[in-house]
Amino acid sequence: MPDLLSRPVGAHAPAAGGLATTALPHLDATAAEAVQVFVSNPRGWALSDGEPAQDEAFLAGCADRAVPSYIHASLLVNLGSPTAATVERSAATLAHGLHRGTRIGARGVVFHAGSAVDDGYAETALRQVREVLLPLLDMAAAAGGPRLLVEPSAGGGRCLAARVEDLAPYFEAVDWHPWLGVCFDTCHAWAAGHDVATAGGMGATLDALVATVGHGRLSLIHANDSKDACGSLRDRHETIGVGTVGEAAFAELLRHPATAGLPVIVETPSAGHVGHAADIATLTRLRAAPTAAPTPRTQTPRSRRSRG
Ligand SMILES: [Zn+2]
Repeated sequence: MPDLLSRPVGAHAPAAGGLATTALPHLDATAAEAVQVFVSNPRGWALSDGEPAQDEAFLAGCADRAVPSYIHASLLVNLGSPTAATVERSAATLAHGLHRGTRIGARGVVFHAGSAVDDGYAETALRQVREVLLPLLDMAAAAGGPRLLVEPSAGGGRCLAARVEDLAPYFEAVDWHPWLGVCFDTCHAWAAGHDVATAGGMGATLDALVATVGHGRLSLIHANDSKDACGSLRDRHETIGVGTVGEAAFAELLRHPATAGLPVIVETPSAGHVGHAADIATLTRLRAAPTAAPTPRTQTPRSRRSRG
């Protein structure tokens, strides 16, 4: 049984065919200690009610294994969209995620911070964030259900939050509601220009995050290496240690006080369970020997850029 204080490491598990039928075997085959799933089409708006038997079996299976679970909302969710229908569908998708999340015992529903698409809409976009999120946060808090976890994005397209400092106006928009947390994605932060690969860079980024939103807000980590350069604004995930971020940054992540007790989920390329099993093994190795971390990279962002 994983010790939850020791940063349980897991993966985003496939769920096609049913949460219990597909996600639980993935969890076992990868030795995952935490799990994240989609409960609706990640690239569509259709909201599946799921099969109650699958949800119950998944809930029981996660409880048996003492594995914390999370939902990732559809990638189309954008509370900053200038298109009213998109904002309405985003709200419905988050409400659905909270409902299914309660049924499967999920701790959080992750959604991307969103984008105002162009500069002129940024202020209105944050008003939309407030209008949509406040009632959902109140409802989830009253029910004691999953928290909503905003994930800063890779940047570009007038993102509402990409760099960790951008989270302040986002939280301000919902009056720092206690039920809003943060999901920190290493690949997104790197793409948005946080140099997490240089020694001390990951720690400095996490420090900046905590300085911006305070303690107790960071709730989940997405550990992904990247195929692209720092500041590229590109969100192409790579196997841990193989990409431009490198192993040392993940060792730093796993020994930073801000991540103590937080689940760490990989969303890396995986043929079946193979890639995720390897990434989970890498991260558990780095977690077990944080003082024997590999030598941090010292090359400049410019020299890394040529690798991409
Ligand atoms: Zn992510």
